[in-house]
Amino acid sequence: MIHPHTRLVAIDSVVGNGVVATRRIPRGTITWVLDELDRPLTGTEMNAMPSCYDKLIDLWTFRDGRGHRVLCWDTGRNLNHSCEPNCGGSEFWFEVALRDIEPGEQLTNDYATLYMRPSEDFACRCGSPLCRGAASHEQVPIVVAAIQKQLQLALSELTLVPQPLSGLLRADWLERARELVASNLVAASVDAVVAVGE
Ligand SMILES: [Zn+2]
Repeated sequence: MIHPHTRLVAIDSVVGNGVVATRRIPRGTITWVLDELDRPLTGTEMNAMPSCYDKLIDLWTFRDGRGHRVLCWDTGRNLNHSCEPNCGGSEFWFEVALRDIEPGEQLTNDYATLYMRPSEDFACRCGSPLCRGAASHEQVPIVVAAIQKQLQLALSELTLVPQPLSGLLRADWLERARELVASNLVAASVDAVVAVGE
């Protein structure tokens, strides 16, 4: 489920639609959580589907850490790529704002952090001064490492900002976040969010 202070807008003829903030979303805010209506598709399920689904799956789903493709039922499926993303952390089944997101600003992911495969490389013109010119599976280790540093900082602020989506969090997801983010400060903060969500 996408953060309630967002909406779908038309970006341009190349990008299509995107999701923008309708109010300021501070760093550390949970911007998306996997919810009960989101639809994970296993490899077996996709193999059994007619080929007419292939492009739809490529376009509208993201790959999770199990190799499944997840179709978000809401505008969470419309987040665009940026080489300078302001959201990250999908490996935890939720994402946080990596920096303050201003009203009208697009919420973005770096697709290279979404378990990208060689066949999924694409040229990028995201407009960021940090644009790599392409999103490539070869960039994954570097991009993931860079995002992890931002993620640490954002996770350390989870309890400092309003969290309209906290009721959807699962304790085991936060536990995994704590394991992946090797910081006592962050672990303490994650504990506090678990308590809020219970
Ligand atoms: Zn770019």
